[in-house]
Amino acid sequence: MMGYQNDWKKLVVGTEHMVPTIGGKRVAVVNFDHAATTSPLHGVMERIFHFSEVYSSVHRGLGYKSMVSSDVYESGRIRLMRFVGADVKRYTLIYTKHTTESLNLLAHIFGERLDRERDVILVSEMEHLANYLPWRMVGQVDIVPVDEKGRLSCDVLETMLMRYGGRVKVVCVTGASNVTGYTNPLGKIARIVHRYGAMIVVDGAQMAPHTRVDMMGRTAEETVDFFAFSAHKMYAPFGCGALIGRKDVLADASPLLVGGGVARFVTHTSLDWNEVPHKDEAGTPNVIGVTAWTEAIRILEEVGRAELAKWEAYLLDSLVRELKGIDGIKLYGGEKDCVSLVSFALDGIDHRTVSRILSYEDGIAVRSGMFCAHPYVVRLLGLSEDDIDYYRNHHEVPLPGLVRVSISFCNTEEDIERLVRLLRHIVRHKRAYLEKYSTMAEHEESAFGQLKLKQRILP
Ligand code: PLP
Repeated sequence: MMGYQNDWKKLVVGTEHMVPTIGGKRVAVVNFDHAATTSPLHGVMERIFHFSEVYSSVHRGLGYKSMVSSDVYESGRIRLMRFVGADVKRYTLIYTKHTTESLNLLAHIFGERLDRERDVILVSEMEHLANYLPWRMVGQVDIVPVDEKGRLSCDVLETMLMRYGGRVKVVCVTGASNVTGYTNPLGKIARIVHRYGAMIVVDGAQMAPHTRVDMMGRTAEETVDFFAFSAHKMYAPFGCGALIGRKDVLADASPLLVGGGVARFVTHTSLDWNEVPHKDEAGTPNVIGVTAWTEAIRILEEVGRAELAKWEAYLLDSLVRELKGIDGIKLYGGEKDCVSLVSFALDGIDHRTVSRILSYEDGIAVRSGMFCAHPYVVRLLGLSEDDIDYYRNHHEVPLPGLVRVSISFCNTEEDIERLVRLLRHIVRHKRAYLEKYSTMAEHEESAFGQLKLKQRILP
């Protein structure tokens, strides 16, 4: 045990919520699905409540409330840029809905700049689809393969950059994988990428919640050109995301979404765009999302981000040690330099059944599947071309995948113990669980749903 206790569980809404189990009993929820999304902090909810008093339309009015709202919105931009160490003079921040929208917008912008025939976009094999598919839509993509453990190698990346001899314009990497938790050395990657005249795009969705981000790095060569992240993975789930990046590149492009706010002056025969970032923020701005996000950051910094991360690392380490002792579990990631998540496969029980058992039997929420990182999971599982063809041609067969446990500072040692205890029980009574869950008729599962409804989902 770590020798100190904390009450960080109390910072987050809903951590003591009671949920039904299949036996009819209600238990306190255990949430290990924080990599997907996080519940709000209590302080964020309070902030939203107070801010609502002055909530009004941003940039559209000269009423007092509108001016306050505009101020909150604009100062949030600077606050978020400082949070990731961006140079506020040379960089700008475009508010979006989430990381996915940020990366789609950025790919659209590069799509206008790139020569489709000649230019190449390199995407690491460990990317979430949010940092892969948008690039496929706009240009020639080549994949930087990971090794059999799922790690990205700087040498492999450099070899590819060298081989393309200056044709690579963009390199897309994640700050941290949402499947294995592996982190990438962004400063080192940026140095390599810049040496070959390309720009680096970082998907920060899993990195920003757990580790310090320094977009400017230690030297000019180490700067990250573009960084995307989401508020809902940082305890402020109110529909806000951001793309932070070089003003010189972002300023030139035409907007992806158009409508109110994007143009300075429009007639039937002329159109003058507003300046970046406003030209890329069509529609009514989400100032509630912004104030929620900046308040979440304020609270996390006040508690101490390094302390929170230490606790998450401790919990991950305890979990991984326990999982290694369970027969038939194969781990993916969860190592020392990982953010606080790990995936695993359990011999003889498919990923979806494992997560159903955990949820239905003891209210433990994990995630299973391919986590929107299909090519990466395919690589980790070692699927062959024949396997892939088989799954593509048999829609009735569930896709393979893994179980992911993602930890937050609001988890406790008891949460880990509950998960490990049930996993051990599953392994010891595998056949019984398999029988129960393979023969569980649809109506019984929906009975579980009805049970939830009968017991009222909300307290
Ligand atoms: N990138 C990574 C690594 C993620 O884990 C996720 C979400 O799980 C995303 C991108 C997409 O984030 P969002 O759904 O907030 O756009």
